[in-house]
Amino acid sequence: MNYLFLQKNWRMPVIIGLIFVLSGFLLWATVIRTPAYAVYVDSEKKFTIKSQDQAEKILADIKSEQQQKCQQKLELTNKVEYNRVFAHRQDLVAETKMKAELTEALNFKTMAAAVVVNGKTVAYVNTSTEAKKLLAKLKKDFGQVEEGEKLLSVAFDEKVTIKEQKVNASKVSSVDGAYEKIITGTDNPQKYIVKEGDSLWLIARRHDMYVDDIVRANNLKSEDLSLDQELILVTSKPYITVVAKVEGERIETIPYETKVIVDKNSATTVRVKEAGSNGEKKVLYIATKCNGVVEKKDIKEETIIKEAVARVMIKGSKVANVASRSGGSGSLDWPCYGPVTNYFRSGHSGIDIAPRSGTPIRVADAGYVTFTGYQGGYGNFIIIDHGNGLVTRYAHCSSINVSKGQTVSAGTVIGAVGSTGRSTGPHLHFEVLSGGSFVNPLSYLR
Ligand SMILES: [Zn+2]
Repeated sequence: MNYLFLQKNWRMPVIIGLIFVLSGFLLWATVIRTPAYAVYVDSEKKFTIKSQDQAEKILADIKSEQQQKCQQKLELTNKVEYNRVFAHRQDLVAETKMKAELTEALNFKTMAAAVVVNGKTVAYVNTSTEAKKLLAKLKKDFGQVEEGEKLLSVAFDEKVTIKEQKVNASKVSSVDGAYEKIITGTDNPQKYIVKEGDSLWLIARRHDMYVDDIVRANNLKSEDLSLDQELILVTSKPYITVVAKVEGERIETIPYETKVIVDKNSATTVRVKEAGSNGEKKVLYIATKCNGVVEKKDIKEETIIKEAVARVMIKGSKVANVASRSGGSGSLDWPCYGPVTNYFRSGHSGIDIAPRSGTPIRVADAGYVTFTGYQGGYGNFIIIDHGNGLVTRYAHCSSINVSKGQTVSAGTVIGAVGSTGRSTGPHLHFEVLSGGSFVNPLSYLR
């Protein structure tokens, strides 16, 4: 009993004391205010701080940070003012937060050099000297010639001028930044990191682009990619087009022709009577390159160094009979393996198989080479007659290993997958003709 009474007596003062402490704290936090400074940017109250010195120090820090990025003197365009106020302690802004907010709110102007293309400013760099350096670098990079070529002229296709003017400091780029912006035609190009198994063609397909556009945007010299290589994916046009005219000289092969003489008495299949030999000619050309890509090539002069000598073949007529019965086997082997990216349909006379560029192409069956060479949209093109009414054709090859008139046994490597002719990326356009008409290759491939 006594014990309980004592306990009650002891409880009360403690509770009352706690109420005092709590209400004192609440009073301090909600009513009592502390002297402080309100910071105004262009007459708009931004935040409240402890002292003016603190704000001025931060302002100076921001200015010197911005100044490091620019070569010319910075000028603050905003009006920053302070006003003495009393503020709640919890409303005072911490130094890091104040710095971030002030950086956001302030604008610095500086003198810079604008690169103006056809009247429109495309980039700002620090000085006219930097702008001139940038333009010279564009001409130098895209005016490079290949072996045997001589640079005739290099110029911009657009009217490009440099204009000094006062701009917002945040718009000024480094020379490298401005260079990238000018050749990609955008501020913020989409980037892509090359992964295992990628090819330019696959990347282009996935991003709904053409290989040519990727080659152009990245100024690629070959289609070989390396792992983790960074590619810029843009379809937009560069702001400046560097037009380089070059004169070049190269030695070209004149392929020999094959004449076939049918000999009824000959028992052999196909026999070479006279081995042909390729000729050679010297070609003088003028090429126009736009940002490094050949747009036009005019032949100025051709001089034959050595005439081609035709190859003469004797084909026994008995062979023709045999061939018509059992020349090729009638079913075809896949010339190469890869994703089939386009099927046989109206307007597409074959199938497209797309392994990596350079993959060997094997003849689909034994046969006789009736054509090799460059043929318009087909690019490097091979035609094989299998002697049983079937003809197979191979387009866009990067190289050709056989020549017209040659007989090839099943599985022979006749060329390599490429992207010559009208092609959006490395692939084999494979056609099958039966009795002279295009047929679906998938009905023959096994
Ligand atoms: Zn095709």
